[in-house]
Amino acid sequence: MPSPDLQFTCLRCGRRGTPDDVATGWSLSTPPRPTGSDAPREETVTALCPACARDAVRDLEGRLDP
Ligand SMILES: [Zn+2]
Repeated sequence: MPSPDLQFTCLRCGRRGTPDDVATGWSLSTPPRPTGSDAPREETVTALCPACARDAVRDLEGRLDP
């Protein structure tokens, strides 16, 4: 479960989303935290709004099936 105050921004169009929006089709992914890293903790969430997620899938399919 995402934390209740999590906010994210669509990578493509910059639209703002909240955890409630995940149910509406937002695509979220959090990269695995590197182990043994001295870098400061960074909550990097890759987010795509429903429209851009569809486009991303289309791009992906286009790449897989030229
Ligand atoms: Zn978007």
